[in-house]
Amino acid sequence: MDSIDRALIRAWLLRAASVFDAQKAYLTELDAPIGDSDHGENMARGFRAVAAKLDGWWDADIAAVLKGVAMTLISTVGGASGPLYGTLFLQAVGPAAGRDTLDLPAWTACLQAGVAGVRARGRAGPGDKTMVDALLPAVAALEEFPDTELQEALARSASAAEEAAVATIPLLARKGRASYLGERSIGHQDPGATSVGLLLRALADAAA
Ligand code: ADP
Ligand code: MG
Repeated sequence: MDSIDRALIRAWLLRAASVFDAQKAYLTELDAPIGDSDHGENMARGFRAVAAKLDGWWDADIAAVLKGVAMTLISTVGGASGPLYGTLFLQAVGPAAGRDTLDLPAWTACLQAGVAGVRARGRAGPGDKTMVDALLPAVAALEEFPDTELQEALARSASAAEEAAVATIPLLARKGRASYLGERSIGHQDPGATSVGLLLRALADAAA
């Protein structure tokens, strides 16, 4: 497989819904010490709603599906992460517009646009202990080896996000709810960075 087609996007979203359902307690556990214990439920609810709409998007092209995901996440996830995940998918629509499939450069452009949107909306930079800390290395992994086979590139991108999520543990939170804790936010893994790893791993696994 050298590009992402509609079937893969559907498989990804269904897998993400089942992963977020399975990891609900884990994400909520991460959100307990530095947040309000709702990130797992937020993500599970959002992607459950996405999965429920997939059949209705059967004829939609990739850009329309990404837009539908964005709108669904914005209206169902809530919290800080809902609008941010919504923005991630909404900004990815631009580079996907008019395409039947996304090859590696196109998917890289989608993720770049999505991450730029998240940064513009949430005003978080690298090291602020947020989902941005997982998104930036995920994009960098794609940019670094543009000639990699698609499946391998997606796996590397997911691994970069997963490693970056663990690397948020020693960071002091400077954005979002966790930032209210100041120094006490140190020593805990950021839930949003962790959910980014799960989302991108679901894509890599769906492509495998
Ligand atoms: P809330 O914090 O409103 O309860 P969630 O628990 O669903 O929302 O999501 C928390 C996650 O949102 C954090 O772990 C962090 O990764 C992310 N987040 C919060 N604020 C920002 C921001 N300004 N920019 C980027 N990500 C953020
Ligand atoms: Mg929360």
